[in-house]
Amino acid sequence: MASSVHVTLEDGGIALVTLDVPGRSANVLSSAVLDELESVLDQWLAKNDLAGLILRSGKPGSFIVGADVKEFAAAAGKLSRDQVIALAHRGRRLFQRLSQCPMVTVVAIDGVCVGGGAELAIWCDRRVMADHPRTQFGFPEVKLGMFPGWGGTVRTPKIIGLSNAVELICSGDSVGTDQAYKMGLADDVVPPDRLLEAARQLVQAEAQLQNFLRDRQRWLQPEPLSDEELNFLAATASAYLQQQTKGQYPAPLAALEVMLSNARETDLEAACRREAEGFAELFGTPVNRALINLFLLSDRNKKDPGIAAEAAQRVQPRTVQRVGVVGAGIMGSGIAAACLRRGLSTVITDARPDALERAIPQILQEAAYDRQAGAASLDKTLELSGRLDAAVRDEPFADCDLVIEAVVENPKVKREVFGRLENVLRDDALLATNTSTIPIARLAEGLRHPQRFLGIHFFNPVRKMQLVEVIRGPQTSDEAVAAAVALAKGLKKSPVVVQDGPGFLVNRLLFPYMNEALLLLEQGAPIEAVDKAARQFGMPMGPITLFDVVGLDTALYAGGVLAEAYPDRIVQSPLLSRLVEAGRLGQKSGAGFFAYPPDKKGKSPKGVADPAVEKDFLAPLVTQRKQFTMQQLQDRLFLPMLLEASRAVQEQVVRDPRDVDLALVLGIGFPPFKGGLLYWADSLGAAAIVEKLKPYQALGPRFAPTELLLELARTGNTFYPA
Ligand code: NAD
Repeated sequence: MASSVHVTLEDGGIALVTLDVPGRSANVLSSAVLDELESVLDQWLAKNDLAGLILRSGKPGSFIVGADVKEFAAAAGKLSRDQVIALAHRGRRLFQRLSQCPMVTVVAIDGVCVGGGAELAIWCDRRVMADHPRTQFGFPEVKLGMFPGWGGTVRTPKIIGLSNAVELICSGDSVGTDQAYKMGLADDVVPPDRLLEAARQLVQAEAQLQNFLRDRQRWLQPEPLSDEELNFLAATASAYLQQQTKGQYPAPLAALEVMLSNARETDLEAACRREAEGFAELFGTPVNRALINLFLLSDRNKKDPGIAAEAAQRVQPRTVQRVGVVGAGIMGSGIAAACLRRGLSTVITDARPDALERAIPQILQEAAYDRQAGAASLDKTLELSGRLDAAVRDEPFADCDLVIEAVVENPKVKREVFGRLENVLRDDALLATNTSTIPIARLAEGLRHPQRFLGIHFFNPVRKMQLVEVIRGPQTSDEAVAAAVALAKGLKKSPVVVQDGPGFLVNRLLFPYMNEALLLLEQGAPIEAVDKAARQFGMPMGPITLFDVVGLDTALYAGGVLAEAYPDRIVQSPLLSRLVEAGRLGQKSGAGFFAYPPDKKGKSPKGVADPAVEKDFLAPLVTQRKQFTMQQLQDRLFLPMLLEASRAVQEQVVRDPRDVDLALVLGIGFPPFKGGLLYWADSLGAAAIVEKLKPYQALGPRFAPTELLLELARTGNTFYPA
């Protein structure tokens, strides 16, 4: 078997250790790789006559992306506490040797260095980083429901101070080279082509001055913060993390606790023991496993071409270089900005010149936005403006590879737009719609080339929302789907391919949940109780608040489409139409379920309870006030969503049940710590869900178990493939 670790002995007594895991695009620290690293370090760290050891990656522009999450997934829940502790100690002891050997150890980092890779790097005496935006350093473990267990929480505070370490490890966010240098994570930042040379120079300087030996002593000392400073850090960090994690994500607080307990520890081994024990508390817990599941879903999505494996062999997705967008409203502008930001030549049109005038500066500003600076840079704006065309005519679409329509949600208007576009588009150009409700089959009627037509459904706001539904119409070709999937990935989005149908996937599953919230209000559940039940389940906001955000008119329209499609199970509440008739459209109109009184700046961002809603709209509808427990409210909200998902799986709206989960987490904020809707269902078990449904069956067919659910309950199988 080809090896992952290679060593060359260089002039001047430098051992150059190169990590290059064969057959993988990035270095991953699997247990086999750790075994190899161990035998190499056994051999080289024992040498007394070396000036130093340099560790680097053999993968250009990528260092180490962490430990092998698939191994974690396989082990989670299967290992005993002692086995987990032993695993943590094993990795840590291996890396720790880099801080105890006779020579200086320097790591040369170009590209992503996270998780286990960051722990390996932090145990070295010195870190040199390549000055490039791709160089990112961080500990994302808390995002997987755990914390660094190979000494990361013990060693990092020694190198960059406790406050910095708390911020880095508890947030799970990575830092670029500027911040890494300021924090003291990087000893030097140099141009990528000088990285190795800088590492060699550092070894030579250290071999002479031996500063690293002095630092090794210093890093054994306890945290220099005073008691007062330490208490302040503990109080502020824990209050902040509690507010952020809402009791649903234990890892960041556990990481904080272990770092605080170790702050005064002078015995390194005891500190590492505390870390390993804390790590074992988190490893394999339901939250850890759910978050690992999400990581795997997202990894799977990155590799999914969007079409069947056999078709993928034959289809080479076309590279989209020039994109056209029709409609410069909320969505069209967002889509254009996303394309422009990723370097695509973009053309946008609108029937109304004033809409274009408003949109162009917004598009440029969004596309040129620099996160670190917190604003769009002038240089970037000027550069991008050369790649953006705007017109009120269709001719500029003639050289587009793909055109996305984002005009008003009206099939007649959309069809008219497609008719015009077909006259100017190249025969091989793709044509897409951003419709949220109109079936692709219906819009494809009358098209000359329906095989190149499909839905590419972005979510609002495009800038923030990672999900894109790629919707296959009855005649859409594999080529078109593969190209749309590749385009969405190029825009740094996660495309999920779904079959055509009312509400496609996400809106179809969202509707039963939102509609049930209205039916609960009709039965006397208070608005705040319904919203709170959803938030406690883990949703970012309650369904009633969501109505106001989406717009009650939009929700009413989308609901109508679904009610028409599924009259057997959808019970429509008159509440929404009454509020819409009264002009209460939600946030955008200043009143919906909540009121939005303007603040001092004239803005009205936050909704407040409005007694008029209770008196004029709810009271006339509520015939009998029922009392609901939190569990009942949650069952009522989420079981209809789950049943609809099981129907969608049965009807093969998705190619794999796991797509439902990724789409819901990214599209509606389904709680990540539950791992996804079907993952959550699998963790409860189909038989238990069938039991859970029984008390609600009198409410109608929407609470009847589906065929698929009954079959899973009978066979003991899960929605997820075994
Ligand atoms: P919008 O009203 O903000 O913008 C529509 C734009 O289309 C307007 O600028 C209008 O002048 C222009 N337009 C109308 N008819 C036209 C024509 N014949 N030719 C060229 N331009 C024309 O609408 P939006 O919210 O951006 O929605 C656009 C599409 O995206 C709709 O199909 C909608 O269902 C879908 N969508 C909206 C959201 C959302 O939250 N807003 C989310 C996902 C999908």
